[in-house]
Amino acid sequence: AFDVLVVGGGPAGAAAAVYAARKGIRTGIAAERFGGQVLDTMAIENFVSVSYTEGPKLAVALEQHVREYEVDIMNLQRATKLHPAGHDGLVGVELENGATLRSKSVILSTGARWRQLNVPGEKDYANKGVAYCPHCDGPLFKGKRVAVIGGGNSGVEAAIDLAGIVAHVTLVEFDTQLRADEVLQRKLRSLPNVEIIVSGQTTEVLGDGQKVNGLVVKDRVSGTARTIELEGVFVQIGLLPNTEWLRGTLDLSKHGEIVIDDRGATSLPGVFAAGDATTVPYKQIVIAMGAGSTAALSAFDHLIRSSAP
Ligand code: FAD
Repeated sequence: AFDVLVVGGGPAGAAAAVYAARKGIRTGIAAERFGGQVLDTMAIENFVSVSYTEGPKLAVALEQHVREYEVDIMNLQRATKLHPAGHDGLVGVELENGATLRSKSVILSTGARWRQLNVPGEKDYANKGVAYCPHCDGPLFKGKRVAVIGGGNSGVEAAIDLAGIVAHVTLVEFDTQLRADEVLQRKLRSLPNVEIIVSGQTTEVLGDGQKVNGLVVKDRVSGTARTIELEGVFVQIGLLPNTEWLRGTLDLSKHGEIVIDDRGATSLPGVFAAGDATTVPYKQIVIAMGAGSTAALSAFDHLIRSSAP
């Protein structure tokens, strides 16, 4: 059995594995895709102390750092079920291949994924004008025109944030009204360079083959389509935590995030969690790494306090 088993190989999981292994305890990491969301990212300019890097490069660096320690890396392994510790004190993690890994403590870091529009052009222009993270990619659109899709809190916050950087923001909401908190809506309406479209269905992202140059929005009332010229589209219709496999085993928030305390502890003894899969506010690489480190130190603390040899 492992002392610490990390599930998920993104920034949170990699940090947790490094911190755990440095305690000299038996550490394993199982991941469906080592690197996580970082693999889908191009420019990264907010990984503090590294002014510019690219996702695939950072993903390789994450794995290399973990490989410097005696960590059992199980890549391309998907966890399908968590079994709380029984009388032997071991938590079980069942994999898709049928095997069950056993560990004295487990760190869940299965991350999240952005909900996509699933319209023509969205995939073709990902990282070429289609973006999902305003904190990450906002500055790349300085002085340009962008749209934000989604009028919930994330969308309206993103539009307010971007309005301070870009030339013009068009916010597109599918419903007949925005769903964000009133205070955010008021702030948004006060900004001179923002247009708000309600009952708008995004039907296509247009581009010149290299990058985005337009967005087609259909008015759901009149049925007429309109093309908006712009350089960027931020999709803000939800971040889905990869926690479906945990339903019913530990406390999840109403958004499906793993509920953790300041130390990364979940509602199950010996089970910790970190990163985008959790209730941590703000989903970012440096934040996930810090949280992974916290969870590993908490798992170690749990091990030295528990009677299991
Ligand atoms: P993830 O990176 O999501 O990793 C989750 C890991 O868990 C993966 O290895 C995955 O394969 C694995 N996994 C999932 N389910 C299972 C399962 N059932 N069993 C086993 N393994 C599983 N942040 C920044 O700070 N700066 C940026 O510039 C930036 N740009 C971004 C651009 C894009 C396009 C995207 C999508 C995100 C960006 N982010 C950026 C956000 C950042 O990537 C995330 O905050 C960060 O990767 C979260 O790390 P994590 O380890 O919690 O989860």
